[in-house]
Amino acid sequence: MYPQILLRNRKPDRIATLAEYRAGGGYEGLVRVLQQRSPAEVRQVLLDAILLGRGGAAFPAGMKMMTVAEDAPFPRYLVCNADEMEPGTFKDRVLIHADPHQLIEGMILAAYAISAEKGIIFIRPEYESAARILEREIGIAREAGFLGRNILGSGIDVEIVVHRSGGRYICGEVTAQINALEGRRPNPKQPPPYPTEKGLWGKPTVLQNVETLCCIPHILRNGAQWFKDLALTESGAGTKIFGISGKVNRPGCYELPMGVRLSEIIEDYAGGMKNGGEFKACLPGGASTGFLTREHYHIEMDFDALKSVGNRLGTGAVMVFDRDTCLVAATLNLIEFFARESCGWCTPCREGLPYIREILWRIETGKGTAEDIPALKKICKHLWYSYCAFAPGAVSPVEGLLTHFEGEVAAHINQKKCPFRNS
Ligand code: SF4
Repeated sequence: MYPQILLRNRKPDRIATLAEYRAGGGYEGLVRVLQQRSPAEVRQVLLDAILLGRGGAAFPAGMKMMTVAEDAPFPRYLVCNADEMEPGTFKDRVLIHADPHQLIEGMILAAYAISAEKGIIFIRPEYESAARILEREIGIAREAGFLGRNILGSGIDVEIVVHRSGGRYICGEVTAQINALEGRRPNPKQPPPYPTEKGLWGKPTVLQNVETLCCIPHILRNGAQWFKDLALTESGAGTKIFGISGKVNRPGCYELPMGVRLSEIIEDYAGGMKNGGEFKACLPGGASTGFLTREHYHIEMDFDALKSVGNRLGTGAVMVFDRDTCLVAATLNLIEFFARESCGWCTPCREGLPYIREILWRIETGKGTAEDIPALKKICKHLWYSYCAFAPGAVSPVEGLLTHFEGEVAAHINQKKCPFRNS
């Protein structure tokens, strides 16, 4: 059993209370930071800890904070991205429901690091219970003196509010999220200016994912080296919440060291393949990553190892498929989601994704032709020229399908039916 850091207070039936969080060292990091560390020192510790953003982009959290210039204007904003909407991804919800004060303390510390007085939790509308938990616990933290004006007599003010998202996938993209918070249509914007320079209402804004923020109190309490030592690989740091779904016996969220092997996650934690099935493939980091195959079954799950095989760790949402699963149908399912969620701003994405959906549907229903495979490859290539990272992410499973399972796609075309269906 590996050490549990972020999920240490997780209970089957209820959230951890403030008293339980404090009994495990909660808010100790905040007390120490306010007494002993400058905002610059906090940013440096996070950089030294190699805390990489857990929302999928893996950008160093300390570095992002450092891009807010010392003389940047005020007010500054910290935004917590809890708009978790990628199929297969549910770790942020689990974290909020398990231990909400961990996130609240992480946000106060992150706000302190960039001298922001306002933190905003941008949360998807389906997470209404999590939003209510946060609102209640924010009030409890305020009453305890950890939040609000003059925190613990330090002269520091930080307030946190919860903002319900409109519920579109693209709202998870940084610049689109800022537009949404300003009440605009959530289209992404190409930097520069970067949000850390001109973000929410034109002011410096740092946006971090729930899991990233939850790591911060532990790093500041235990040190950068402690965090790095949690990982099993040299290039990794910390633990990762892996959300396992699909054809396994025990789907769910597991906190494991960065760099744990895929086979270990599936066999030792997710209870092995469902009904004794045989592993065929998985998407290692949510719906916008490519397929890993049997050849990658023992791969170390960290950002660098996945990158070395042309893939991404993404959010760590591992979607597992067995030998009897039709990957054309599985990919079609994901593309239906992405085609619906395109914000429609640029032509390649707005037109290309529905086109891919139509072709995959034809292939899956036995109406595909030999020209469909080269056509799919060509359209996928064009989607890399879209305006934001949504479209390249959306076509990642399609490209993975064509790279590793082209034979399975061709079998649909040649047999004029899905080989995995009886009728
Ligand atoms: S790639 Fe898609 S989501 Fe991104 S701006 Fe273009 S249309 Fe919108």
